[in-house]
Amino acid sequence: MATLGVDLGGTEIKAVALGEDGAMLWRGHRATGAAEGRDAVLGRLAAIVDEARAALAPLSLEGAGFAVPGVIDTETGVVELLTNFTRDWDGFNVGRAIGESTGVPAVLINDVRAATLGEALFGAGKPYRHFACVAIGTGIGGGLVLNGELYSGGRGAAGEIGHQTLQPDGPSCNCGNTGCLEALASGRAIARDAAEAIRNGDSQLERLAGSPAPTPAAVARAALAGSEGARRIYERAGRWIGLALANVVCILNPDAIVVGGGVAAAGELLLAPLRDELARRTIVFAPHRGGVPVLASPLGTDAGALGAAARAAQMAPEAALS
Ligand SMILES: [Zn+2]
Repeated sequence: MATLGVDLGGTEIKAVALGEDGAMLWRGHRATGAAEGRDAVLGRLAAIVDEARAALAPLSLEGAGFAVPGVIDTETGVVELLTNFTRDWDGFNVGRAIGESTGVPAVLINDVRAATLGEALFGAGKPYRHFACVAIGTGIGGGLVLNGELYSGGRGAAGEIGHQTLQPDGPSCNCGNTGCLEALASGRAIARDAAEAIRNGDSQLERLAGSPAPTPAAVARAALAGSEGARRIYERAGRWIGLALANVVCILNPDAIVVGGGVAAAGELLLAPLRDELARRTIVFAPHRGGVPVLASPLGTDAGALGAAARAAQMAPEAALS
């Protein structure tokens, strides 16, 4: 018996199959092609399930967890908002559609909640009963483990750390609000701020990043190559994230914070100002505890698929992982 975890990313679909003991038995990936629309992507999800089933035979696939990058109703399987996908996903019952097309019981989970579960079972969260996870990529997602369990909240959306308002009149966010953490410090925000700095005359940043509209990774390279402007952009993003996490710490008092996502690959460029701001804003917690540890995710981009597989195992009739 095995369970499959599938992480539906904006650019890539990643999948892992876990055995009853939690060992990884198989992994696969393919391009998402999100712009081609819902039916094309659903076809690829079904194809990756078929591929896994063929690879795992004679083991049977007991269930599959699908990590989805957006707001979903985890009870019904209906997608409420998938910001980086075509609009034909909104209101669609993806859980039922996948279950029907693959013949495998499907459970849905938000992608960063899946990654949080992955960190809890296999990664940096293992030693902690209470931790918060934040994933900094194109957007900013989050998840919470409280009392040793993934905390879902009323409709499965607890942990949306990226959509807390930090600057009431700040930049517009994809969610419709203004001044969300995501609008201030995500990969999209870093790219926006770099392009703006270049338009305003930072030719050194443009030269070192190699583009007038650099990616967050190119901005990080420019910072490491000596661009003061690029370093400032990462410092500002790190401080906003530290401020947002300070609010989380004040409310929930987690034992640790796990930071993942592609933009977090910038390492100390982002994490040093983040830790500094977090310490400055959590004075009541710091002196007798030495602060809250901020840990880089060891699972990287596998965390979501691992967590989705674990979720499917939890939902399976004879749960292997609990
Ligand atoms: Zn928002």
